[in-house]
Amino acid sequence: MLVVAHPDDECFGFGGALALAADRGVETYVICLTDGQAATNRGLAASGQELGAMRRAEFAASCKVLGVTHHELLDYQDGRLEFANFPQTTGRIVERIRRFKPDVVLTFGSDGGPNTHADHIMVSMFTTAAFHWAGRPNRYPDLAQPFQPRRLFTVTSSFEIPGRQPPMPSPWTVALDIAAAQDRKSEAFRQHFSQAPLMESTKELFEKYGRQEFYTLLAAESSQAASHMTDLFEGL
Ligand SMILES: [Zn+2]
Repeated sequence: MLVVAHPDDECFGFGGALALAADRGVETYVICLTDGQAATNRGLAASGQELGAMRRAEFAASCKVLGVTHHELLDYQDGRLEFANFPQTTGRIVERIRRFKPDVVLTFGSDGGPNTHADHIMVSMFTTAAFHWAGRPNRYPDLAQPFQPRRLFTVTSSFEIPGRQPPMPSPWTVALDIAAAQDRKSEAFRQHFSQAPLMESTKELFEKYGRQEFYTLLAAESSQAASHMTDLFEGL
C-alpha cells in the first residue's frame, strides 16, 4: 500500500517499486489524498475543478501503466493538508489498511521529498500514525478489525534539485534497482499530460539518478540494527 498527496507522486517517487511489485504478482493499492488542483502546471484547464478532473484521469492512467491493482483518490484540498483534521485523515488511512491488509506500507519521508512539499510531509505524518494505529485495538475501535502491516518504508532522496534549498533526508536502508521498471516509470509519468513542463524540467535529474529508488525502513516487526536491503519484500 502506498499513500501519497498528489497525482504524479505515485510515479515520480515510487513508480519503480510499484512496477516491480506488479512483476511479482504483488497486489498494490495506491491512495492519493488530493486531486492536485493547486499545481503550478495547469495544462489547458480553465478552472481548478477542471484541472482536478484532468489529474484524476491522469492518475488512473499512470496507475494502469504501473500495474497497480487498486487505486483511490480522496477529496482533500491540494496545498492544504497541514490544515486537514489529523485524527480524521489518519482514520481514513487506518480503515483502508485494516480492509486491504498490506504487508508493506510506503509513503513520503518526513522531509517531504526532494521538493520538501508540505503536503508530502503531512502525508508522511498521517501514514506513519495510521501504520501504527491500524494494529491497535484501542485506536479507532469502530473501524474494522485491527490489522498490523509488517513494514513501513519511507522514500528518501539521493539527490538535490539544483537551485532549491535541499531537504534533510533520512539515510536509506534500501537501494532498489529499478532498471527493469525504468521505462514503465517514465511511461507512467507521461500519462500526467498536465505536468509535461515538470517532466521536461526534471528530465536530466531522472536520466542521471533514475536507475534506483531509495527507501528507509522506518518500522518493522522486531527490534534490529539498520541493515542494507535491496528488496522491500526481502524475507517476507
Ligand atoms: Zn506531490
